[in-house]
Amino acid sequence: METKLIDITDIKKGEVQLREAASLLCAGGLVAFPTETVYGLGADAMNPKAAEKIYAAKGRPSDNPLIVHIAELGDLAKLTSNVPDSAKKLMDNLWPGPLTMIFKKKEEVPYKTTGGLDTVAVRMPDHPIALALIRESGCPIAAPSANLSGKPSPTRWEHVYQDLNGAIDAIVKGEPCRVGIESTVLDMTGEIPMVLRPGILTPEQIERVIGGKVILDPALLVHRPRDVSGTEMIAPKAPGMKYKHYAPKAEMMILQGDFNRVKEEMKRIADEKRKQGSKVGTILFDENEFEQAAHDFFSQLRQMDEDHVDFILAGALSDKNSIGFAVMNRMWKSAGYHVIQV
Ligand code: AMP
Ligand code: MG
Repeated sequence: METKLIDITDIKKGEVQLREAASLLCAGGLVAFPTETVYGLGADAMNPKAAEKIYAAKGRPSDNPLIVHIAELGDLAKLTSNVPDSAKKLMDNLWPGPLTMIFKKKEEVPYKTTGGLDTVAVRMPDHPIALALIRESGCPIAAPSANLSGKPSPTRWEHVYQDLNGAIDAIVKGEPCRVGIESTVLDMTGEIPMVLRPGILTPEQIERVIGGKVILDPALLVHRPRDVSGTEMIAPKAPGMKYKHYAPKAEMMILQGDFNRVKEEMKRIADEKRKQGSKVGTILFDENEFEQAAHDFFSQLRQMDEDHVDFILAGALSDKNSIGFAVMNRMWKSAGYHVIQV
């Protein structure tokens, strides 16, 4: 399959291109497009054959549900009829934005889209191209991150091209993504909203809007959730959170401790590894620049692969900060939970 590159840098001048991308989606095709978080791989969420193609192209396990993207609040009624008041408040205040909410699904939503679950994850992305494309296609769009399963999420169209060229119908080219990590996933089906995947939008921000408590999936708090056989000790509630994720080709180790100690130790270990003939890459973010770290993390991992690095040393961010915690959730997985204290 030839993957078409569709250029919409200026949304006002991109009408023809937008229509072309939307008609591919309507015909059951796969189109990657930019959102504010990461690039998404879109398909008609109400068409099980289209949703199935996403799993095949990404090599995604079939029990890992897709997030459905909408452009208007009115589209929510196609997906669910159970929207609690707290969710309405969150939509009014935080949509469009990097927040995904989980609801009981309507019968019409195919199980292929929800990975066999009776719930559906929904988000309204804060990106002009994504919104225009969803509107033009006229259907809710299922769109997981547009990477091969297991690889770092794509924050530039070039990353999508590297992973999926030849396997999908088109890539809508846009700018690099503003946020850089995937949306916060919040389960709204229980009594108290529960964060299943941390993101740039923090539990504190959510609590402020709803005027009540939010809890974290306990599985998120276990930094080393694997026993020796490699199986999970606590199964996370978002099926996707249990899979091997974000893995660069290189072996990776995280150094945790005082910033200056981390810097010194990183240099020492890097020198030692280089003497042994390894190509070493380092990732060290400024101590309190959490949003910048979120923005850069995946693209730095991908750069390491491109540079054929075979050993990566990364400095831990403080996971006391909610955005730091969201980045660390990805970093721990990339390193296979290989963390040393310094
Ligand atoms: P991705 O879109 O590839 O970034 O992954 C979507 C994430 O949302 C995965 O971790 C999924 O397991 C999670 N997710 C999507 N739908 C649901 C759902 N209905 N219930 C729980 N988790 C979900
Ligand atoms: Mg993903």
